[in-house]
Amino acid sequence: MNIQKLDAELRQKTAAAVGQAFTKYRHREEAAPSPPGAAITFLGTGGNPEAVLSQIPRTAGFYLEIDGLRLYVDPGPGAVVRAQEAGIDLGMLDGIFVSHGHLDHYAGTEALIEGMCWGMYCRRGLLMAPGQILEREHLLSRYHQGRNSDLGYKGGPSVITLEAHQPIQLKGLTLTPIPVHHAGENYGFILDTGNLKVGYTSDTNYIQSYLTPTGIQDLSRKGPIMDLTEVVEYRRDIKDLFGQVDVLIANVTGHNIYANRHITTLGLAHLLQGSKVKLCFITHFNHCCLWPEDLRPAMATFVEHTSGTRTLYAKDGFSYDILANIT
Ligand SMILES: [Zn+2]
Repeated sequence: MNIQKLDAELRQKTAAAVGQAFTKYRHREEAAPSPPGAAITFLGTGGNPEAVLSQIPRTAGFYLEIDGLRLYVDPGPGAVVRAQEAGIDLGMLDGIFVSHGHLDHYAGTEALIEGMCWGMYCRRGLLMAPGQILEREHLLSRYHQGRNSDLGYKGGPSVITLEAHQPIQLKGLTLTPIPVHHAGENYGFILDTGNLKVGYTSDTNYIQSYLTPTGIQDLSRKGPIMDLTEVVEYRRDIKDLFGQVDVLIANVTGHNIYANRHITTLGLAHLLQGSKVKLCFITHFNHCCLWPEDLRPAMATFVEHTSGTRTLYAKDGFSYDILANIT
């Protein structure tokens, strides 16, 4: 073997590969504008620890392309892998929205930031997250918040600390953070294009008390709700605000579990009754919704028949044309 020749070849090919990768990922061009319309891709539809650990369902959040805006929402563990599988070029993202500091919502964020900011060589894109994540618990590094440029990487996102009901302008659209009732600081949002309002509940409690055959029960219990006959007290702010949107993305977790801090499909049916919502996607499924039996079709049927609102259950890796589904 001619080891000198091998060495020379390796040096040449490595240098060429580094140059090609640099051009592809870092010193690159902006992508072409996205086509008009409104589409949502669910890179993952799972929530809570069993889904994180099993990836049934996946925990990677969702991606919106609406009127030219490319927005990634709640990238949980696996987000960068699922985005690659779906053929999403992270370098074209306009923004990343993180609702709260739970692993299934934020753990994929730093990798997405590196994609959005072209390997941290470019200052571009928005990171929108609660102050609890950014400043108080430092769940996202200073580097990925674009604050450590002394490391030699000058790139990073513009950072917006979410504040309740304070609108954010995004390429001509308006995103308004909606404070919700979960654990710590947490925001859903309403994204308004001028013609279409899309709501995202994130994780939130909805039912506060309910009627049972033996009287009114509050939600201090964390176990499954087995004896509800009707909802008594509920989060009126959640119903009032999200009841006004055209399309609602609702994190349900399950039909009747963890209702102390999740909507559940029991609560969602109540929220949608009498609302203006034309189309609802249910997502953020606990592992129990798919294993040992797939309960999602029945959950969607329950919500649709109880509320009268068209309801689809989101599936891992599936894209939906929003406008085609509401007309
Ligand atoms: Zn959560």
